Amino acid sequence: MFITEFQTMLQNSELRGIFIGCDYPELLLLLYADDLCIFDYSVIGLQRKIDILSNFCTSWGIQVNMDKTEILVFRNGGILRSNEKWFIDGNPIQIATYYNYLGVLISNRLSWSKCNVTLVNKASKALFVITKLVSKFPNMPVNLLFKLFDTKIKPILLYGAEVWGYEKRPAVDRFYTNFCKYILGVGKHVSSNAILVECGKSDLSVDYHFKCISFWCKLLRMPDNRYPKQAYIFMRKLDLAGRHTWASNIRILLNMYGFGIIWLNQDMGDVSQFLYAFKQRLIDCDKQNISGKINESSRFEYYKQIMSLLDVEYYITNINSREIRKYLCLLRLHELPLKSNIRFKSSVNINVVCNMCDSNCTEDEMHFIFDCKAYAALRKKYIPNYSNLLNHVKYSRLLNCNCKKTLVNCAKYIKEALDYKCNANR
Ligand SMILES: [Zn+2]
Repeated sequence: MFITEFQTMLQNSELRGIFIGCDYPELLLLLYADDLCIFDYSVIGLQRKIDILSNFCTSWGIQVNMDKTEILVFRNGGILRSNEKWFIDGNPIQIATYYNYLGVLISNRLSWSKCNVTLVNKASKALFVITKLVSKFPNMPVNLLFKLFDTKIKPILLYGAEVWGYEKRPAVDRFYTNFCKYILGVGKHVSSNAILVECGKSDLSVDYHFKCISFWCKLLRMPDNRYPKQAYIFMRKLDLAGRHTWASNIRILLNMYGFGIIWLNQDMGDVSQFLYAFKQRLIDCDKQNISGKINESSRFEYYKQIMSLLDVEYYITNINSREIRKYLCLLRLHELPLKSNIRFKSSVNINVVCNMCDSNCTEDEMHFIFDCKAYAALRKKYIPNYSNLLNHVKYSRLLNCNCKKTLVNCAKYIKEALDYKCNANR
């Protein structure tokens, strides 16, 4: 392409570029297909390069598209100085706060939150196709939906995670837990941690941290004369000198998961074995973190006894009706409209006694499912007779059973009992 001649012109101008290492020439510009990016440390240096670009365009009879040309001034904050203005043929070039470079939104403060929000918005558009499919075929198997997410949505959501995936990204994590909630048919207010446990899934941070570390492994094995490798070597030197760079973030991430020694050696031995071990560590720590939060929380009194951290719950993969899944999930996660459930309590001291019967008992899951006289007929029809077992034993037997019919009946019981309760309270 004739744009390569522009590079020669820049080189001949003897203007300074970006330093990336003593043994390598300074970086003057980046070219990718028809995309051109020029940079400089100083206002005047950048203006001179723009002038060269303008001369180059004039000599070839081409024009710079001003609508797609922007300046990004990297700084730690504060406003632009009065001399920070650039012109091409006398026309001012607009100065942006964010710039979309090859699909990744780069901010002038190197913050990635807006980039993540943009990716979430793109992923939401793609997700719309799946939700349309679900509304057409409400009984689609959950495994298929997760597979669709992994192959069609995740690549959009995690685009560029090699660069930004070293830290927790709440917007990205929330998008995934909301998807899990959508699949189960429950509202966004339901606990995200408990939903991940139900689906046997890890937080999406496992995926983006992993992408980051995989890319780091790739960099280490890259020949030294490649630009990304040179940039990495430079960033590592800066990190050693006490400056915070992407390399520092990789160091912190490796230390956090107990692989500090790999950072010190800058060598991980067998790459696939290291990556396997690293991923497993990410998953284990994530599960530990989630179960810790659930165990600490007082609202999951019964859920703690029935949750399994190892795999997806039986009802999720074996029951294809979204409505049935919803009732079972709401029961398990203390989200049914019962008086003792936090969400339905307007204050701490509110009366939680069941008003459907005269037992003077608290209206909680055990009472609702096994005891309340108001639903005796429904119970006889739908809930198995566990004779004299204690309520919490019955409860865990019922909810942990791997019998589709029992679970479907339990969901029917909940639905009909709630309708009855609703009508009675009118
Ligand atoms: Zn009752």
